[in-house]
Amino acid sequence: MPPARRANIGRRTRNANDVALLRRSQTADERAQANASQRERNARNRFVNPVPVLNLARPSRIRRAVLAEMMRAAFNYNSQIDYSMYGYIGMMDAICPHCDAANFRGETPGMCCANGKVRLPALETPPEPLYSFIFGTSQASKHFLSHIQQYNSAFQMTSFGATKIIRDNFMPTFKIQGQIYHQAGSLLPYPDADHQFLQIYFIGDENRELDQRCAIVSNTRREIIRELQRFFHQHNALVQLFKIALDRMPTDNRKIVIRADRTPFGEHARRFNAFKVKHFTFVV
Ligand SMILES: [Zn+2]
Repeated sequence: MPPARRANIGRRTRNANDVALLRRSQTADERAQANASQRERNARNRFVNPVPVLNLARPSRIRRAVLAEMMRAAFNYNSQIDYSMYGYIGMMDAICPHCDAANFRGETPGMCCANGKVRLPALETPPEPLYSFIFGTSQASKHFLSHIQQYNSAFQMTSFGATKIIRDNFMPTFKIQGQIYHQAGSLLPYPDADHQFLQIYFIGDENRELDQRCAIVSNTRREIIRELQRFFHQHNALVQLFKIALDRMPTDNRKIVIRADRTPFGEHARRFNAFKVKHFTFVV
């Protein structure tokens, strides 16, 4: 059986009646003025707001249509749209009884930890001197926390890259297109090049390593960088792993041969296909 037709279908909604009454009470000049300002508002909204603004006072049929348009709007996020106009989703005050994660009321229960099935180990307390720098109350700690990005840059092991990086003039942000990657490079620099990124860890002289790090970043304190540098050499598993690799393979004069036609006995042939990309990485 077909659904019953709604009595107010078409233009006989309360809103349409209100607008018709308002128009009848306007003079021709007033109507032209109202139309002009409405056109201007529409043009502005089309530029700033590609999606229509939800008017909660409108009938529910229209509200449902607008909410449908907002579905998956996060995938086309536009910082110029005030999304709070489309509805308030509340505070993150639904606390998971299993993992204490803060969720929104409307979120699917169990999204955070699959209802207690996923249990992550507690975060370990960082060793000294990192602990005092992060949780301390000293002047050095305050300075470290307010310049943490610079200290992070002084110790970064890889450089960030992307297929295409789009920068607008005078904007501190940038857009990326395509694939992003982190480039590690070789453990040792070319003969006429400076040590960079991961290579700085392998200069082999504490003071020269320190000089190089201090030259990269400004607004940092040499003593703090020295303490962190010792900390990385002592505690960082990657630095220690690469040191072992460097001891075993002190030059880059190695030849790596890939025999894609030789599949190990008992293994699936497709697991050992030849590479189709030009660049790949070996972790020793
Ligand atoms: Zn949970």
